[in-house]
Amino acid sequence: MSDKIELIGLSKEELNEAFAAIGEKPFRAKQLWHWLYHQGATSFEQMSNLSKDLRAKLAEKFTITRPKIVAEQVSADKTHKWLLEFADGQRIETVYIPEEDRGTVCISTQVGCAVGCTFCHTGSQKITRNLTAGEIVSQFLVARDAYQEWPTPTDEIRYLSNIVVMGMGEPLHNMDNTFKALNILSDGDGVAISKRKITLSTSGIVPHIPDVADKVGCRLAISLHASNNETRSRIMPINKKYPLEDVLKACQEFQKRAAHSRYITFEYLLLDGLNDSLEAARELVNLMKSYKIDAKFNLIPFNPWPGCDYRPSSRNRAFAFSKELQKFGFAAPIRVARGQDILAACGQLKSKKEEKK
Ligand code: SAH
Ligand code: SF4
Repeated sequence: MSDKIELIGLSKEELNEAFAAIGEKPFRAKQLWHWLYHQGATSFEQMSNLSKDLRAKLAEKFTITRPKIVAEQVSADKTHKWLLEFADGQRIETVYIPEEDRGTVCISTQVGCAVGCTFCHTGSQKITRNLTAGEIVSQFLVARDAYQEWPTPTDEIRYLSNIVVMGMGEPLHNMDNTFKALNILSDGDGVAISKRKITLSTSGIVPHIPDVADKVGCRLAISLHASNNETRSRIMPINKKYPLEDVLKACQEFQKRAAHSRYITFEYLLLDGLNDSLEAARELVNLMKSYKIDAKFNLIPFNPWPGCDYRPSSRNRAFAFSKELQKFGFAAPIRVARGQDILAACGQLKSKKEEKK
């Protein structure tokens, strides 16, 4: 291992300090930030407004690293998945989901996940470690490299316009690095993805939900997946520690602090005969009304993966469920699964290359 400092993942303040430590002025740190996150530079040679001497000095002290792309797949619907490897050999997946006039990058925050939801492929893989802020940031940079969206476009029409923290891992189990990464990615002098276009999804780590408002200010999504504690505890063991009522109270607190985010998205996986009855839909309505939460539902069709034994709800049941929620004034679209054929859809990500059957 070299003792050089990795630049990707340093906050602006840390970059300033690192430059001060080698006797360089703050405006140089500013120029460098621009090269890294506005121009997407991956080498010091590219930095044409820095003198040759300074470039050589920087190359001696610092590195700019992209993770290694181990495998890359594009699905029939153009969803793009990367299997990325970091310096220590650990691997994660990142997904890009293009839409008509925008596109979303889905990033991971941990290798594996400790929450262990029974329906989730990632959760079936034990937690290995947290990703660093730099490793989280670099996933977005890899995607932008692939679509050559450098320098950062000045308008809002971009291939890569949104970020969802919905890949592998529970972001609020790796809160500091995740928040730091999102603050780097949303910085207006660099990658500049506005916080309104970033959504962090959590299984409901109650004590840290309000922090999402205070320390980042992005949108919040909660993986709810059940309308009562009995069902939720069955499929999400975390519910025993942080039951529904506590999750919803934390959501109230989030809404109090996040004046900018109009609603919270509740993700709801439709599992056949388990959580998809009309009674469950009504239970959800009552919960949201009694906690006065400005809620929007995302109904997610269950994506099967090798070895799981849940079944997705039928189309009819899914429609009826959605209609019931709408009847009471809640938006409740049924999501179209993307990238299923390459195991890139929600809950299908893993660290290993899928073995061909
Ligand atoms: N750990 C965080 C972030 C991952 S988000 C969280 O759970 O919120 C991934 C989303 O996909 C979550 O809503 C998760 O519950 C959902 N998911 C997990 N397994 C799935 C599956 N097999 N099919 C569809 N969605 C799934
Ligand atoms: Fe972890 Fe989220 Fe998967 Fe649950 S759904 S195991 S919290 S990644």
